[in-house]
Amino acid sequence: MAEGFVTYTQRRWTGGIRFIDDALQVHLDPGTGGVVRSVESGLGLEKIRLLLVSHNHPDHCGDAPIFIEGMTKGTTRRRGTLVASRSVLQGNDITGPSIGKYHQSLLNQVIEARPGDNHSMQGLGIDVSRARHTDPDGVGFVLDFPEAGKIGYTSDTSYFNGIANPYRNARVLILCTTRPRGAPLKGHLATDDAVKIVNVARPEIAVLTHFGMKMLNEYPNAQAKYVQESTGIRTLASFDGMVISLEEEIKTKSIKNVHRVAQPSGRTKIQPTLETTLDAEKLSS
Ligand SMILES: [Zn+2]
Ligand SMILES: [Zn+2]
Repeated sequence: MAEGFVTYTQRRWTGGIRFIDDALQVHLDPGTGGVVRSVESGLGLEKIRLLLVSHNHPDHCGDAPIFIEGMTKGTTRRRGTLVASRSVLQGNDITGPSIGKYHQSLLNQVIEARPGDNHSMQGLGIDVSRARHTDPDGVGFVLDFPEAGKIGYTSDTSYFNGIANPYRNARVLILCTTRPRGAPLKGHLATDDAVKIVNVARPEIAVLTHFGMKMLNEYPNAQAKYVQESTGIRTLASFDGMVISLEEEIKTKSIKNVHRVAQPSGRTKIQPTLETTLDAEKLSS
């Protein structure tokens, strides 16, 4: 698929999304480059306690085994939880697995992510939502942080009836919007689909990510503006190293600022508030 160009050229990062709050650090979809981006940005891997993997495409799962090695402090500590699709853990007729028995055995807990399931971990609610993608086991997630509130993530999916329902009341809705207006692609969302989903879900803020080449050529900022004007919901196009702070007000900045904050002490110091790092302009290959 031509859109795979974005991943292998790294025209946009494919490292996933980091969630940081007081109690828990979570990484979602540790795609190719996730290790390098995490280290370079000063976030590292050792503090992650929960790893979420939505499906078995390299732009979402490519670096997962090394994330597990980081989470377990180089395999010396048995700790951490993995919630991942069946394709990632066991494989299906088409794809996978991408995290083998050895890496699964290093963790405290491994949970198969099935649509409709709900899990909780240290006050964090994890709802698994449905996706329709070329990996038939692919899922989306709704994370409910005790302080910061709900964050929805569609993952790679086609539009289907009812897709927006799990994401109602989300503060932030992250939509994997691979294609621009008028250029649909099976198994993925285009800007027109994002409008339909945002109109029903009505989040506080919508974030478009996972851009394909066609999307990049059509200017993601312009596509986000179109979603915002069509729905009345604040909508942003993600960029590499984007940071979203979820306080009473939602603010965005670049991870480079976080990195600079982290430098003087000589070690990584993370802000006490929840931050979402959107370094995930990812594509299925
Ligand atoms: Zn993808
Ligand atoms: Zn995919």
